[in-house]
Formats: sequence, structure tokens, C-alpha cells
Amino acid sequence: MDYIDPHIHMVSRTTDDYATLARMGCVAMSEPAFWAGYDRGSVDGFRDYFRQLTETEPARAAQYGIQHFTWLCINAKEAENVSLSRDVIAMIPEFLDCPNVLGIGEIGLNKNTKNEATVFVEHVDLAVKYDQSILIHTPHLEDKYQGTRMILDMLCDDSRVDPDRVLVDHVEEHTIKEVLDRGFWAGMTLYPVTKCTPQRAVDMIEMTGGERLLANSAGDWGPSKPTAVPDLIFEMRQRGLSESLIKKVVYDNPLEFFAKSKRFEFSPRQ
Ligand SMILES: [Zn+2]
Repeated sequence: MDYIDPHIHMVSRTTDDYATLARMGCVAMSEPAFWAGYDRGSVDGFRDYFRQLTETEPARAAQYGIQHFTWLCINAKEAENVSLSRDVIAMIPEFLDCPNVLGIGEIGLNKNTKNEATVFVEHVDLAVKYDQSILIHTPHLEDKYQGTRMILDMLCDDSRVDPDRVLVDHVEEHTIKEVLDRGFWAGMTLYPVTKCTPQRAVDMIEMTGGERLLANSAGDWGPSKPTAVPDLIFEMRQRGLSESLIKKVVYDNPLEFFAKSKRFEFSPRQ
């Protein structure tokens, strides 16, 4: 089955991973800007990273017939440095007209600090001013519930934000309902060991019906598995979910959400 991975960090992945993903049916992916394995010291470090996300990775992906899209920001982990964050936010518009850019992300909170919240609100303002969709990172483990509520409150406090153009990632059983009830899209991030497993993700699909719900692999610097979405497809089949519901979660929903970005263009496989 053709599928789309809406949240995967290919800068931390090898060319072999691209080949494997293509063999397993991946036809498109989106890569939010995030931590690159080390803290960057200057705005130029981010400018180079954004060139990697808008030039290098789309070219690598295209060699395997995969369309690569991206989101730009300074991530919450490095947002503790407010003055560097402001320099990066001021520089982002240089890249907003690149053909594979879908919007601003993954912005959010990491340790739920005041500085992170300041930088989050300034990113949201940038997104609104430039008519961009938004991709959200919610904190992991013990900070998740409170951090998710803080993020949703900040978004709902800004009446200019359209929840239908915001994807909130890393949802779990205790956060998914509020995200969907407030009109946002929700993304489940699958991990091989900790956090959300394919089995738990299928439970959440059954609980919610799959409307405005996406699944991704993260494929980041921590222990993660770039082929987690095919694992989820397998698990959904094992549990007897219909092919149309499976396709909705791993293909139709990502396309519907991405299409809200003004630059999004996709050619389905013939
Ligand atoms: Zn991420």
C-alpha cells in the first residue's frame, strides 16, 4: 500500500533508509525542522540546515521516487536561547517560498519553560502573518499532559489561528481527545520501544474513528524506526480494520492536511 510519513527526520537517516522506505510503499514524507543532534551556535547554522531541508533532502528522496516536504522553525530544545530564536524567526521568510515548504514546525514545548512559551508564541505570529500551516511538537513523557494543554491554550488564545491548519504531533491516549475536540489534527508518533507502539495506535484509531488522525515514525536521533508506519499498517490489518480506514490514516488524511498549505503539490503514483 502506498503511504505517507508526515513526520520523519531524514537528515539523521542514511540513503539505505530511503531505499527501504521506497520499497515499503512510502511515496511522500514531511520533515519538520528539529534538533540536528547538536545545538547550533548561530543563525547561519540554521540557514545551512534549512538549505539541507529545502534542497538536499528533496533531491535525495527524489532518487527513490519519494516526494519530500518540510516545515521550518527553531525547535523547543534550542528555543531556550531567546535571542538566537528571534534571529532564526526573522530569517525563516527567506525560505517560505521554496517549493517543498508546507509551513512552520515542529514548534512546541520541551520542558514547558517560559522562554519556550515566548518563542512558541512568536512562531505562531510568524505563521499567521505569512498564512502558513503549523506542525506542533508536544513534550514527551511526564511533561506531555501539561505541555499539550499549555500549547492548545496558547493556540486557542490567538483568534487568528485556524485549528484546521494545525497538526498536533506525539499525541497519546491522555491527550488525543482534547486535541481533536478543539478542532486540531492529531498525529501519533510510533516508537519501537518506549511511548506509542503500533498496538496502542490502533487502539486510538478504534477509539476515535480516524477522522483528522495521522501516524508517523519520527525517525529521529533517539531510538526510533523509520519503517514504523508499515508496522502500523500490518497491525491494522491484523486487527481487521478495513482497507479504506487504513488508507485514510496513512494516505488520505496526510494529503488532506498538507493540501491546506498553499505551496503543496503532489503527483500520486500512476
Ligand atoms: Zn520530530
